[in-house]
Amino acid sequence: MKIGVLGAGQLGRMLAIAAYPLGHQMAFTANSADEPAALLGQTFVNNDKQDTTEQLTNASEVITYESENTDVEIVKEISKKTPVYPGTKSLFTTQHRGREKAIFDKLSIPCAPYQMVNSLADLQAAVDTIGLPAILKTATEGYDGKGQFVIRSDNQLEKAWQSMNGVEAILEGFVNFKRELSLIAVRGIDNSHKYYPLVENTHHNGILRLTIAPAENISAKVQEQAEHYMQTLLDEMAHVGVLTIELFETSSGLVVNEMAPRVHNSGHWSIEGARTSQFENHVRAITGSPLGETTCLQQYCAMINIIGKHGPVDKVLALNNAHLHLYGKVERKDRKLGHITVTANTLNELNTTLSSLEAFMP
Ligand code: AMP
Repeated sequence: MKIGVLGAGQLGRMLAIAAYPLGHQMAFTANSADEPAALLGQTFVNNDKQDTTEQLTNASEVITYESENTDVEIVKEISKKTPVYPGTKSLFTTQHRGREKAIFDKLSIPCAPYQMVNSLADLQAAVDTIGLPAILKTATEGYDGKGQFVIRSDNQLEKAWQSMNGVEAILEGFVNFKRELSLIAVRGIDNSHKYYPLVENTHHNGILRLTIAPAENISAKVQEQAEHYMQTLLDEMAHVGVLTIELFETSSGLVVNEMAPRVHNSGHWSIEGARTSQFENHVRAITGSPLGETTCLQQYCAMINIIGKHGPVDKVLALNNAHLHLYGKVERKDRKLGHITVTANTLNELNTTLSSLEAFMP
């Protein structure tokens, strides 16, 4: 099939790399011709937004998107002509933290206590209910920890509200977590489901730096619980494609933080670490093909993000259990330039390799 992608970043690039062996063709909309996916398919460069969307729609048999910040109205318009997966329910829900929390509540999925905030008075009222510490986040468009303010004392309320720049916000109670985990799953057009193992994520300044797959010491019960939450979400939104949920592991069980209707940075390990990568499974799902096995190929796998500077990438190529992925991007502070996957049969081997890659860690 000809698969259209709204966006041409590294996620589009890795989708294309997974789609070609299955016989598909790719098309993208891009802001400029030098974006990571732009040379991997037919690319419509944005001069006039409406036009490139129309060109992509005409050129594609099925369309997907790279970001939950994609305009829902544009997707509705495209859908009249060409199927778009995941559908608008998934997109509309996941691009607003309040709508996400409402669906978690509806499905009895535990999440942090929250209250929507549209003014300083709202914030005061929310703090009175939820208590401190708490996190104030913009309701939409936040990513990599941007648009967030951790409030620890009452005298920070004004500063916190000012940092939201007048946009709608959500106050969340602070979750005392042991680890951050994520679960990636995929649902097919025929309602088939596949789940990857829970992975452990380490962030620095709000940016993912390290994923360990599978996360250590996860009982079958905890994996099952996470899959149950995921299944209810997939079915409720009639989701088609990959869905990611980010979770906190706490002493009283799992608490869901947020979700993304797309392939996710914490699933990049699956390219070499799983029988079918998240990218291939997303492609399989949106093209109506059978989903692939999600089991791990080796006992241990890790993914290190390359952030800001490329660093000593030849060191990665010299290792016999590491794989390098560069996205063809120019170096810039905090920018995701690529990632490294490490696979190992023992924990010792994994840790030894990770130590040799310390130059890539913050
Ligand atoms: P988010 O953009 O919601 O993923 O938040 C970015 C990071 O902030 C998360 O990865 C957590 O480390 C932290 N965080 C977000 N929400 C909470 C919360 N309610 N309680 C504690 N930490 C949080």
